[in-house]
Amino acid sequence: RKSQRLDKVLVHMGVGTRKEIRKLTKAGRIKVNGSAVNDPSVHVMPETDDITVDGITIDYREHIYLMMNKPQGVISATEDRNEEVVTDLLEQEHRVFEPFPVGRLDKDTEGLLLLTSDGKLSHQLLSPKKHVPKTYYAEVDGVVTEEDALAFKNGVTLDDGYVTMPSELTILSSGPRSEVELTIYEGKYHQVKRMFEAVGKKVVFLKRIAMGPLTLDPDLEPGEYRELTPEELALLK
Ligand code: URA
Repeated sequence: RKSQRLDKVLVHMGVGTRKEIRKLTKAGRIKVNGSAVNDPSVHVMPETDDITVDGITIDYREHIYLMMNKPQGVISATEDRNEEVVTDLLEQEHRVFEPFPVGRLDKDTEGLLLLTSDGKLSHQLLSPKKHVPKTYYAEVDGVVTEEDALAFKNGVTLDDGYVTMPSELTILSSGPRSEVELTIYEGKYHQVKRMFEAVGKKVVFLKRIAMGPLTLDPDLEPGEYRELTPEELALLK
């Protein structure tokens, strides 16, 4: 826990620009532990000092952690020349933290996407050594069988020769259009779609429903998001 300049803390929390904060302090509108502060460069302890702007306490956080139900048609990136990106869906109060998506979902894939400004956590979740499980709900053109489940358990060979790690396929319904859940422990490019291609079937709808200890909040409609609860965050760290 270390001290930081007051203006830096307030810029981080999205209160305003450095110049705006200078004006607020000069106007006596910023207090630290109950006393107006007129020097924006004073050092404060952001985690423990009570910092208020017009009497409203700033609830300091270093990082932000968001769970989004990614909608189809949006790119999992922070910028793109032509297409809408997931961070376009965020409110300004969350955007000030400059969160980025942890991993990628295809443009036409929906579901659980974690966005954070915490690079360390992101690395941990994406590290190929960690084998963080990811569970997908998929609708597949074709009759998915227990043979496919066995093939996925043993590993299938993708179009580039890569043999997948053991994965778990649960068949929810089998028919001309089957419904399944698949848990994988790695994240190759288009992995779920390519695994079904390896057994001669086509994914027609794909939604991620879990990643590590996080499960998609069923109350989130596509395009909606919320901050992680303290409990969810504790599970992740
Ligand atoms: N596998 C895919 O094929 N697409 C995704 O978006 C995620 C996993």
